[in-house]
Amino acid sequence: MKLDGIHHITGITGDAQRNADFYVGVLGLRLVKKSVNQDDPTVYHLFYGDEHAHPGLDLTFFEYPGAAPGRAGDGMIRRVVWRMADPEALDFWAERLAGAGIQTEREGDSLVFSDPEGLEHQLLVADVTDDPLVAEHREVPAEYALQGFHAVRAYSSQPETSRHMLDTLGFTESVAGYEARGEHRGSLYLYDEPPAAPSIQGAGTIHHVAWTSDDEDHEAWRERVQQGGGRPTPVIDRHYFRSIYFREPSGVLFEIATRSPGFTVDEPLEHLGEKLSIPPFLENRRPEIEATVRPLENPRVAARS
Ligand code: ZN
Repeated sequence: MKLDGIHHITGITGDAQRNADFYVGVLGLRLVKKSVNQDDPTVYHLFYGDEHAHPGLDLTFFEYPGAAPGRAGDGMIRRVVWRMADPEALDFWAERLAGAGIQTEREGDSLVFSDPEGLEHQLLVADVTDDPLVAEHREVPAEYALQGFHAVRAYSSQPETSRHMLDTLGFTESVAGYEARGEHRGSLYLYDEPPAAPSIQGAGTIHHVAWTSDDEDHEAWRERVQQGGGRPTPVIDRHYFRSIYFREPSGVLFEIATRSPGFTVDEPLEHLGEKLSIPPFLENRRPEIEATVRPLENPRVAARS
């Protein structure tokens, strides 16, 4: 039983339209689901993915309109690391991001920048053989596209407290950090020394990271978390996958999510993300929900017309 790397990463935005304009319009991801927060259906939950909405490239955001900016600190994820095919892609992105008013910085074979709300990203030329997961964008050549998640970096003042849990979950430890690698894919989980300032969960911060479980192993992972000393939630049906949540000892909120049924459960692949998808148990509230969420234009659909 192995976790197959990162399933999705969820952050917080104060402005869904600006968020979509950046992640779809600039970074070239595909909006694969426009839904609402199942725990608060008055606000959006946006999912950006590759062309086929695979686990492994799924960056999602809860929108809290007008949310104050947050700040990553101890016990929070502070950076999303993406795989890139080759160093030429970094030149492309340095120029493209500059054109969008985003400053970038070179760090070895990588490019670091923050999204318009301050969420940190790193585009890294990574030596891995996992299948690239890419979305199509008419201004982004396929060879320069983001290829999926490589890692997340978290702040922890006491990373050694997490060792037992991560070991129980099957992460392997090396000088590079921890790695969750399954049959199909792998991702790294890395710790950095936290800043002195306390963390604030708000716009431009990461809420949680989800790791991929085979469907049939999901219940067993819940037991495994308990063996590691964690306190997992019951299995929650998120409509697109099933999930459990728990905090790993450094304080980062972890989720373990199933591969299935995926984003085509309620709309066809070619039209993912074009309409507001509402999970069945909230469908009777659709008129109220549609009247509450602010209009959101999918930049990819807008570019087509
Ligand atoms: Zn999640």
